[in-house]
Amino acid sequence: MSVTPTRRIISATTLLALLALSACAAGPAFHARQIAAQPSPSAASPTPSASPSPTAPPARGTLDWYVSQVPVFPAAPLPEPVPLPTTGPIPFWHRLPTTQKVAFITIDDGGLARPPAVPDFIARAHIPVTMFLNSPAAEEHDVYFRQIQVAGGVVENHTIRHNSLAGRSYDYQKQEICGAADKLQALFGQRATLFRPPFGERDSTTLKAARDCGAKAVLHWSETVHEGKVRYQTPEKVVQPGDVLLMHFRPALMDDLLAALKAIHRAGLTPALLEDYIR
Ligand SMILES: [Zn+2]
Repeated sequence: MSVTPTRRIISATTLLALLALSACAAGPAFHARQIAAQPSPSAASPTPSASPSPTAPPARGTLDWYVSQVPVFPAAPLPEPVPLPTTGPIPFWHRLPTTQKVAFITIDDGGLARPPAVPDFIARAHIPVTMFLNSPAAEEHDVYFRQIQVAGGVVENHTIRHNSLAGRSYDYQKQEICGAADKLQALFGQRATLFRPPFGERDSTTLKAARDCGAKAVLHWSETVHEGKVRYQTPEKVVQPGDVLLMHFRPALMDDLLAALKAIHRAGLTPALLEDYIR
């Protein structure tokens, strides 16, 4: 994940904490990186006469508050792309076959709700996200999704009509997948390389049609996030390296993003971009 932190205003409290970290430059904490908070160059060298009076903490639920809640992550490793088959069916993955200490955030659909603060949150906190969009929603709300794209998000394919594909004819599946891919490419300037079938339901025809429409892999998920809660599919209740977290464009997406980031952090992992691993 390449990160070019933008200047942002940080509270005096955060600044003091960052200065304290900088003061122990010999320790590993110095190399830790908060994907949200990066001091601006001017903030790194305050004058001795600077007033210590801290500004009030951001009110809960504001964009500043969400940004302030993002954990400090270890630096993301240099991505080692996972091997892809050169012939035969493309892979269908619940989690990526990597041992690198990363996990992936994905956001689906797009038609139901688009919380207005999400693009700014993703931009300010440098959250790597992959969006699996239905093409009609993408077309109707292209400005919104383009804002997330500008912030580093990548648009991928989730069909046109969001119908289950399993058991349908090749022609039907190809129309749903290629039709969406064509529209998304026209809207966002890039051909989707990943496909997620609606409801995660697929068959061998889905893999063939997705490949024929330009997909390199078909993605399921390892955890779902809804209304600020992570739901694990395994009893350990820990995000594993390579895990794919699924959330949706729903009203609580800000809370879902924060919950995913905290769960990834608790597991000792760093959020990364799927497209850096599937090339
Ligand atoms: Zn969906």
